Amino acid sequence: MSTHKFQTEVNQLLHLIIHSLYSHKEIFLRELVSNSSDALDKLKFLTLTDEAYKSVDFAPRIDISFTEGEKPTLTIADTGIGMNEAELVENLGTIARSGTRSFIEKLTGDSKKDSNLIGQFGVGFYSSFMVADSVEVTTRKAGEEKAFRWTSDGKGEFEIAGAERDTHGTTVTLHLNENGKEFAGRWRIDGIIKKYSNHIPFPIFLHFDETVYDEKGKAKKETERKTEQVNSASAIWKRSRNELKEEDYYEFYRSIGHDSEDPMLYIHTHAEGTLDYTTLFYVPKKAPMDMFYADYRAGVKLYVKRVFITDDDKELMPVYLRFLRGIIDSEDLPLNVSREILQQNSILRKIRTTSVKKVLGELEKLAENREKYDEFWKEYGRPMKEGLYQDYENRETLLKLARFKSTKVEGLTSLQEYEIRMTPDQKAIYYITGENEKNLRNSPLLEMYRAKDIEVLVLDEELDEIIIPSIGKYKEFELKSVNRSDAAEDLKTESDREKEKAVEPLIKRIKDALGERVKEVKASTRLSGSPSCIVADQNDPTVQMQAMLKSLGKGDLPDFKPILEINPTHPIVEKLRDMKDGEPFNEVSLLLLEQAMLVEGMKLENPADFVKRLNNVLDRSI
Ligand code: ADP
Repeated sequence: MSTHKFQTEVNQLLHLIIHSLYSHKEIFLRELVSNSSDALDKLKFLTLTDEAYKSVDFAPRIDISFTEGEKPTLTIADTGIGMNEAELVENLGTIARSGTRSFIEKLTGDSKKDSNLIGQFGVGFYSSFMVADSVEVTTRKAGEEKAFRWTSDGKGEFEIAGAERDTHGTTVTLHLNENGKEFAGRWRIDGIIKKYSNHIPFPIFLHFDETVYDEKGKAKKETERKTEQVNSASAIWKRSRNELKEEDYYEFYRSIGHDSEDPMLYIHTHAEGTLDYTTLFYVPKKAPMDMFYADYRAGVKLYVKRVFITDDDKELMPVYLRFLRGIIDSEDLPLNVSREILQQNSILRKIRTTSVKKVLGELEKLAENREKYDEFWKEYGRPMKEGLYQDYENRETLLKLARFKSTKVEGLTSLQEYEIRMTPDQKAIYYITGENEKNLRNSPLLEMYRAKDIEVLVLDEELDEIIIPSIGKYKEFELKSVNRSDAAEDLKTESDREKEKAVEPLIKRIKDALGERVKEVKASTRLSGSPSCIVADQNDPTVQMQAMLKSLGKGDLPDFKPILEINPTHPIVEKLRDMKDGEPFNEVSLLLLEQAMLVEGMKLENPADFVKRLNNVLDRSI
């Protein structure tokens, strides 16, 4: 016998599960059955493809039994692949995925908040400790002789010892605690299996004692041992759409999506012709917890002729659609298709291409319902925007699907709707980027657009800085960043230009005063209430993008200097024209630059100097 310690993160996870998943404790059974089903899938695949496993007797089934009384137990046994000693230590003692680890770090320790988070998360085997004082796992790997028993009370350690098991597979026995004893009952188990695991494609048998009645309906003393299959065990995706009810789809989702909620959307397709395949995709109501981790868990499983191949291939669908859950089942792929081949397999590529179009098409339909689509966008707007950048082929559809905040509407708008609101001679779509919506809405950069009644999209996500400029155009309309120097050019009138020309000598004097601090000083009629603003040169990154690149560790960026724009009609600027060269003039010029930087959310290099200048100017004016 050997004693092992759980990895630290396992202890954290155990603690969290026990303290925060309280109200959902029945999901432990879903997780254990799902593990058994995976183990059966794995063995099925090997017996079909690997010579070494050809002689293994594959008789797939999951058996659930329980004992009532003082010390109730619940046992889940499968005839799946099983585990050897090393795998037991690895699989039931550590958490391999770094996404899961960082998820745990994110939890607050506040059990109410955490239970919302953790509810959306596949908690797996460890959830059995919610309902059990101790857990025993007896397992024998297919093709191997030795069996092992893993035991733990979930308090830091587990033990492994040699054991006996007649056949390959795994038996998990829970010694139920006070919270768990309700699960040692026929109807409770039956209900949970039907709710979460009805469409697991292997039979699940429940063993129970039934009281025997005599002809008069009186209970006889003795009971009879009975076994009943409790799930329907069909590959639901293979059935025709009109045979299935919404509840069938939802039921299946709850098992493969590890989710207690119903999905937002499901998309079921049977394709026949050049390629034969079936897909069933779901959009969960809430975004999966690991959506923004690099090692997120792939949500789509690949089957070939109903045989499970993999649930760990992120290439099955594009990265931006990583929130999808579901299955792809192909009739054309060979069973022993290797992982390397999967990556460049032309059949899979075709399935992927048509599936993406199908999913986007369904999302367009969803978009006809504003309320529902807003919900969708709230959860998945970010990955969908990544799609604009990654999926050139579907960019047009993705642009139609994109939603933005804007200066003219409450809530979100599409580009189609923006187009309808455009002013008669407006030739471009304008947007402003930055990190804080409120600051953006108050930015002096918007003054001219407001004055001319032109709508500006308000993009306040970091990602927008990279993605939106890469789009270029929507229909014939160029997308122009208000944060850049040339965006306003095409909106200016003759009289605007005349006003700008009139202050040219002043502009030159300000430039001399500011020297190397700016790239250029320009007159600009884009402002009305503010005397000045800064913008980025056409090809330079904007202030926000520079900040983002720095946060990504690109500290060696050259210094991009801003362009200072001066409002020729502002009273301060008009007065400045009459001021002689000298220190007071220089100070005001600098303040025009510094206030514009502050409004853009930039840090001043030397705030003390700024305050001194401000005080000098105040002193002179009071
Ligand atoms: P997950 O199933 O999400 O990977 P779990 O904590 O539920 O996480 O299980 C960890 C691992 O233990 C599984 O990935 C699998 O390798 C192994 N395992 C769990 N249950 C079984 C079982 N019944 N048969 C074989 N292996 C199992």
